[in-house]
Amino acid sequence: MRRRGITTPPSVPGKRDKTIRIVRNASVRFAVALVSAASLFFVTDACRPSAGKRPPLVVVGVDGLEWRLVLEFAQEGLLPNLTRLMAEGYAGKLQTLEPTLSPVIWTTIATGMKPEQHGIRDFAFTDEAGVAHVSTSLQRQSKAFWNLLSEAGRTCHVDGWWCTWPVEELEAGGTMVAQTTTRAQIDFKQGVRIWKGTYLKSLPSQTWPPELGPVMDRHVDALAEAAESTLAATFGPPAKETSPFVGAMWERVQQAFFADHLFLDAARDALKRAPASDLTAVYFGVTDVASHSFWRHFEPGAFKHPPPAEEVAAFGRVIRDTYRFVDASLGELRALAPDADFIVLSDHGFHAVNVEKDFSDADAQTGRIESGHHGDAPPGVFIACGPSFKRSPVAVGSDVASLRLVGTVNDVLPTLLALEDIPFGEDMAGRPLRQILTDATLEAHPIRSVATHEDAAWRAARARAREHAAEAERHFEGALQTLDAGILKTLKAIGYTVPDTSSPVAPPRKPSDPGKGDSK
Ligand SMILES: [Zn+2]
Repeated sequence: MRRRGITTPPSVPGKRDKTIRIVRNASVRFAVALVSAASLFFVTDACRPSAGKRPPLVVVGVDGLEWRLVLEFAQEGLLPNLTRLMAEGYAGKLQTLEPTLSPVIWTTIATGMKPEQHGIRDFAFTDEAGVAHVSTSLQRQSKAFWNLLSEAGRTCHVDGWWCTWPVEELEAGGTMVAQTTTRAQIDFKQGVRIWKGTYLKSLPSQTWPPELGPVMDRHVDALAEAAESTLAATFGPPAKETSPFVGAMWERVQQAFFADHLFLDAARDALKRAPASDLTAVYFGVTDVASHSFWRHFEPGAFKHPPPAEEVAAFGRVIRDTYRFVDASLGELRALAPDADFIVLSDHGFHAVNVEKDFSDADAQTGRIESGHHGDAPPGVFIACGPSFKRSPVAVGSDVASLRLVGTVNDVLPTLLALEDIPFGEDMAGRPLRQILTDATLEAHPIRSVATHEDAAWRAARARAREHAAEAERHFEGALQTLDAGILKTLKAIGYTVPDTSSPVAPPRKPSDPGKGDSK
């Protein structure tokens, strides 16, 4: 057995007993022992306890996907794949947490734990010496679905999830492409915030197993080569930037779009591999970035100071186009896994903000003013579609106000565990969404629980990992600063802002009040 841990020094030791919490009585214990013994000799799907009996599960996390826009764009005929998922599945609103900080909520979705339990509290944090650091996987204190599935012998592929760098080792053949955020992305002017991460070519500890790195590097090269045409395929011919403000916003959208594209490449590869993973999870973030930036262009009538007509003409479709990109991606993933259970969800909804504000003021010049936001935690989207789910559709013409509340972001992980036949932890903040599962699913795989999935060995391993976090960060940042010119050029082509190595490390600042809302 491999040790679990990160792939750059230092590794995280700590293996633990996998079966003890799951096994509840002697006969089951015997059966599991038998299956475990058999699996030592015959490593096949059929030997994995119950894993082979479930449909594969595909989870698509879409940052900031808003029901109102989904319904509106679906009615315009722009979202054929979401429309099908809504018509064939169980759909409704997903209540979220406040403050709506992406790394915090996506980690709650991944762990089922409250922020105070899982330990990711913001985009970045300052240490005792007052130095700012990006929140990484090393700060996470709770097991995420990739840990829980691996421990239970399920295969799992994860792409682009928040706070997954440095990537963790996954047992049972799991694979992962991390969303990498670097110190250079810390935005001190806005408070200690960062923009969305991506896969960075040729840098360490971003893929599990490490051999997946060269495959991702080739995806980066191919995307950089075709950057303009790829952008045009989604957003149409290049729009003329009318001001530095619009230019800065458009750059951020491009960066998030290219990052999502790489995660889509990785998810496609994963779904083409045989045998299929029990769970494939991918995160897309461009919808959130576009909605922060271009709400005023999308809905100029809602603003006291709308943008000039030529800007609306050039950028009014950006949000729509990102929704179309997500929809097309969903279509591709579904075609690759036609028999899978699909869950599409967002961490929160979105709406216009700063509607009275004059965007021509000085703030606008720096791009630090936003016309869309989610600071008041509007509910997100939840759609589950596939053989394990009841059918309780949302019609395209529905009114947002009439949509049912399916559950909260806390309930997602317990539900994923139920679908994988793994007991949920009673210390988790949510519970499985029993009402979305068919009677046959519940009968074949009754929902089970254990007191907790956390244990002393895990906690000790996480504590050791955190002790080495500074070293891991230095190692990575050092590698980032010595990238050769060719790779830097490639990364620039797909929107990554290469750090300015001539300037000293940015001055430490305390994290801003998270209650003031996320800007990413
Ligand atoms: Zn946001």
